[in-house]
Amino acid sequence: MSVEGFNPFKMAQQQFDAVAEKLGLDQATRDLLRYPDREYQFNIPIRMDDGTYRVFRGFRVQHSDARGPAKGGIRFHPQETIDTVRALAMWMTWKTAVVDIPLGGGKGGVVCDPHHLSLREQELICRGWVRQIVRNLGPLQDVPAPDVMTTSQHMIWMLDEYEKITGIKAPGFITGKPLGLGGSLGRTEATGYGVMYTVREALKFLGIDIKNTTASFQGFGNVSQYALDLYTQMGGKAIAVSSWDPKEQRAITFRKKDGINFKELISITNKFGEIDKSKAQELGFEILPGSAWIEQEVDILVPAALENQINKDTVQLIKPTVKIIAEGANGPTTPEADEVLKERKIHVIPDFLCNAGGVTCSYFEQVQCNMNYYWTKEEVLTKLDQKMTSAYHSVLELANNKGVYMRDAAYMIAISRVAEAVKLRGWV
Ligand code: GLU
Repeated sequence: MSVEGFNPFKMAQQQFDAVAEKLGLDQATRDLLRYPDREYQFNIPIRMDDGTYRVFRGFRVQHSDARGPAKGGIRFHPQETIDTVRALAMWMTWKTAVVDIPLGGGKGGVVCDPHHLSLREQELICRGWVRQIVRNLGPLQDVPAPDVMTTSQHMIWMLDEYEKITGIKAPGFITGKPLGLGGSLGRTEATGYGVMYTVREALKFLGIDIKNTTASFQGFGNVSQYALDLYTQMGGKAIAVSSWDPKEQRAITFRKKDGINFKELISITNKFGEIDKSKAQELGFEILPGSAWIEQEVDILVPAALENQINKDTVQLIKPTVKIIAEGANGPTTPEADEVLKERKIHVIPDFLCNAGGVTCSYFEQVQCNMNYYWTKEEVLTKLDQKMTSAYHSVLELANNKGVYMRDAAYMIAISRVAEAVKLRGWV
């Protein structure tokens, strides 16, 4: 979300410009790719439960559909801005390109806080969002998915509205749907598991046994939950997790130095990924300030919340023990912080590679919807692991061969693929 003085879209453009320069891209390709292809902003008027009317602001940005239909989630957040959505749409383009799936990049959002909306009001927002943009979405144009504070329930309301308007059954319109209604097994786990597949490969590369590692996580939403679950299943020890405290309106870090039990922690977490503070205390968790997650003496840091979390100030808090940063969130690290991480030779698994498991599984979901035949969970996760592992190794190989930072290597691969697509199509 946009915090004063921080503009995620400027940051995304800054990252793009630096790599475009390195790749020697021509001016027209740069102009095309540093700004979204199309963007929509609209009102969603809703009759609230108390009979009053409220108008919510909705967005959809299609950054690029050069490699396939635009693809990306929809966020519900009170601080959503068009620039945040633009940045996230652009990162989706690089994400689908780096894992080499035939999709482009898009993102949507609504300025709202589901904490203070009834299910009925949320349903009306979902249906209103679809009605406002229905002509510009579709399985062959632009395919939405869940993101921060949206779930499979929101996706099925959106699909239902789309099918009512068009009069057809089109499960490929949206991904992240419930099972039995066109959803894919493994989709819920996919982003977090994908993060850990890349961490597993990074540890192999660094010659470290996961059983001798510790990790600290920021956020305990969908991505962080499944990342932590798989990490502990693989033998790692998670010692800290931060989450938002809605009562005190601030983040809190929960620490258990002898290792967090995932099942125990999830049992005291609500649907927004917020951990109950008093129950956590009863279970023996230490309660620390929200920023403490980054200051832990661990091997692995997993920022899996929002943008701008590792910046020029917070990067100084990272302990010398940290060897890997696995970016579960989109845009958690600013370019200033990147310079410090580069110098300290921390192995960064960049966001649009590290968290690409979600969209990769969304792609599998679409494939299954098109076939109208669904794979087992094991099949889905095996395919996901293969995709993530091979994308990670392509980036690692380039980083090693050219002696560049992992984020730059990932950008070089992704931008080259999209640049090639726009050239082959004759757009520039
Ligand atoms: N919202 C997720 C992301 O940022 C998933 C997008 C999708 O599945 O299309 O990657």
